Amino acid sequence: MWYKEKVSEEEIASARAFIKPFGARLHFKSVIGGGQVHVDTGLIEMSKFVTRNSQIFWSILLHELCHCICFQKKLYYNYHNLEPSNTKELRRFRRIAYKAERFVDKMAAKMMEDYFPGMPYKYQYFDKHDKKWFYEEFLDRYYKELR
Ligand SMILES: [Zn+2]
Repeated sequence: MWYKEKVSEEEIASARAFIKPFGARLHFKSVIGGGQVHVDTGLIEMSKFVTRNSQIFWSILLHELCHCICFQKKLYYNYHNLEPSNTKELRRFRRIAYKAERFVDKMAAKMMEDYFPGMPYKYQYFDKHDKKWFYEEFLDRYYKELR
């Protein structure tokens, strides 16, 4: 399948051009889960290994891009704008975190359908294993010092 192929340099260039009008840019560096974003600056960071598969690459890119759009549009604002600095904030953050991620996934899936018809979006958060990973491996590790 064409979308399972390796991402070419031209495709990376077109990805950069695609996210630019949204105020986002792409930088490659090793990150947990393959992708992350600084919503305030629009800096998307992705692990180079995700370029081995076009579908994974675009899915993660659009997911992170949708976090930027959410921040700009103030959607799930407490999730996108809040860096928890104490246990109370962390609790509030945790409560909406997974819901916000699912929302972003659906938004990214819609974007994929609109811009890249035929390429199926790979959901980042889909089942209970993803949820468990998100809370236990990611959030709790990330905010360890606050618990
Ligand atoms: Zn996300």
